[in-house]
Amino acid sequence: MKLHHVGIAVESLSEAVPVFEKLLGKKAAPEETVADQKSRVATFDAGEGRIELLEATSAESPIARFITKRGPGIHHLTLSVENLAQSLATLEQSGIELVDRAPRAGAGGKRIAFLHPRSTAGVLIELIEE
Ligand code: ZN
Repeated sequence: MKLHHVGIAVESLSEAVPVFEKLLGKKAAPEETVADQKSRVATFDAGEGRIELLEATSAESPIARFITKRGPGIHHLTLSVENLAQSLATLEQSGIELVDRAPRAGAGGKRIAFLHPRSTAGVLIELIEE
């Protein structure tokens, strides 16, 4: 596994994107809507990994719920794996609690799944198949 990206919940992409453009000295990739997560995403290439800014598109979005509960900030860390179904099975066997028992569609049509922060030191972990 290796670090793929850090996901940051923001209230407004139009406010947060220019901040990260200044920080990283580059433009975000074209914004994308992730229907499954009810969010819009702006992604920055940050060398070894990426930074993903997430804005809710609906009050029922997990991003909207996160911001209501904890305020804007780091929402998840994403690790890339070669075989997502196999990784989920292995992690579940080792006692990690899964949010998604089967892969689902994330940004860019990639297969993703979330692990429950209860079993991962309070951090929401996303796995992405690459
Ligand atoms: Zn993500």
